[in-house]
Amino acid sequence: MRKSIIAGNWKLNKTCKEAVELVTELNRDLSETTDVDVVVCPPFTALRDISDVLVDSKIGLGAQNLYWEDSGAFTGEISAPMIKDAGAQYVIIGHSERRQFFGETDETVNKKIRAALAHDLTPIVCVGEMLEDREAGKTEDVIKTQFSGSFAGLSAEEMEKLVIAYEPVWAIGTGKTATKEQAQEVHQLIRQLLTAAHGESTAESIRIQYGGSVKPDNIAELIAQPDIDGALVGGASLKADSFTQIVKNSLGVAK
Ligand code: PEP
Repeated sequence: MRKSIIAGNWKLNKTCKEAVELVTELNRDLSETTDVDVVVCPPFTALRDISDVLVDSKIGLGAQNLYWEDSGAFTGEISAPMIKDAGAQYVIIGHSERRQFFGETDETVNKKIRAALAHDLTPIVCVGEMLEDREAGKTEDVIKTQFSGSFAGLSAEEMEKLVIAYEPVWAIGTGKTATKEQAQEVHQLIRQLLTAAHGESTAESIRIQYGGSVKPDNIAELIAQPDIDGALVGGASLKADSFTQIVKNSLGVAK
């Protein structure tokens, strides 16, 4: 049985003060939650302050991106050792906004996964199709291409250390959630790709989150699906009450 993982992607939101306020509330409401892994992913600038609040907390901390080199002449970039040093244990890689607006490719995603793993950070690797892909019946092809490019050359042991997030781009920040059937179909496909590449036991151990307009009132039906192991939450993770409610509504849901 895979333990669910619910992560909040705060994107380009929250000053350090606002971030500390939010995480202080979450810590009060969720610090004893052990049945699901809870992670917050603030902007880089707030990582250190938040990690101080989360000392001894069950809530995990993640960054939203990284660069694959450890150090050097790469102005504006942040490396895995820096993220680790700031107190994080996770890093989101290949979010669709990075693919769409910042030139992220499956090849750079692959390099970033390797850098994260080399420094003991857990990558949360995002894949997902655009609306035009879905409408053209190309969802499966897109996922297969992203899968083979992003995870190229990774061993079963390495794959077991990461989390995958399926995020249909058309459902991100739009209020349009994939139906539970649409989401399960792609999660099952990803599980099949994992099985074909690395065998059943590895495939069964890897957690696959769903992301795209997850809210307190839809998390239960999504997480009830056999291959959905949690959620990557954007908008609804920016307020303590909605994120807490998502976590609480995910608990005890029969698969
Ligand atoms: C996301 O950014 O990963 C996301 C799923 O956003 P939202 O929940 O706002 O759709």
